[in-house]
Amino acid sequence: MDLGLTGKLAIVTGASKGIGLGIARAFAREGADVVLTARTADAVEAAAAEIAAEYGVNTRAVASDVSTPEGCQAVIDAAAEMGGADVFVSNAGTGSNETIAEAPDAKWQSYWDLHVMAAVRLSRGLADQMDAKGGGAMLMNASICAVQPLWYEPIYNTTKAALLMFGKCLSTEMIKRNIRVNTVNPGLIRTPDWENTARELRGDDWEGYLQEVADENADIRRFGTVGELADFCVFLCSPRASYSVGSAYHVDGGMLKTT
Ligand code: NDP
Repeated sequence: MDLGLTGKLAIVTGASKGIGLGIARAFAREGADVVLTARTADAVEAAAAEIAAEYGVNTRAVASDVSTPEGCQAVIDAAAEMGGADVFVSNAGTGSNETIAEAPDAKWQSYWDLHVMAAVRLSRGLADQMDAKGGGAMLMNASICAVQPLWYEPIYNTTKAALLMFGKCLSTEMIKRNIRVNTVNPGLIRTPDWENTARELRGDDWEGYLQEVADENADIRRFGTVGELADFCVFLCSPRASYSVGSAYHVDGGMLKTT
């Protein structure tokens, strides 16, 4: 299936590794140019160079913290210099570990800024670029935890739930400008981060640990691959998904325990 993304410009935050890198790669494979962002300059520059060499598309690395207004503006400016965004994937994010009784206000604020305000600021700025091109698509990468919490990360659960609602509200506004907004809620996706956590907790038996997590949580009894999730995300952002508007899609191997 031709996804109709050749020559389009996709902006993917948190794209130096893990899911974001997989999504950036999948856009490039479809012939799209890509702006990749992350805080660590070396890593995001290496990812952008590797993707450009592999797929022959134009890429741009932006090293900035998207939990700040300046960090978002740097991404918006880079997208403008590349000709304006057609697609925006708000992906940068990270898990947490705390109790509500003990977590300080500053921790709540930092997750709010990363998971919600980055999406607010970037969608606002990039929508103007999409307008100039007649429309576009946006995807919020929330989490299954937006609707089915994990007990150890209340701040993550709460801010991802807010992102899910933001995506719905944004969609209603944006479709009037021919910009489709959807949200994806991944379950267990095997990233280097998960592998490192498993090594820390279980040493040589780290694969056994991941299998136990999958057995406990996902009906399919395995983690999803970054590629499985990335293909889904890229399809949703493509003109082939033209009637998908304002929805949340679970990609979770049966982890969600409701309909
Ligand atoms: P990783 O930790 O592997 O990658 C996170 C990426 O985001 C990195 O490129 C990181 O680079 C970047 N990043 C982190 N903070 C910032 C910031 N403040 N500004 C700019 N970039 C930032 O995460 P995953 O790939 O596992 O997760 C990606 C998204 O998917 C997250 O939003 C996560 O919540 C969500 N998700 C993941 C699941 C999983 O099982 N892996 C399941 C459900 C949802 P750097 O540190 O250099 O900034």
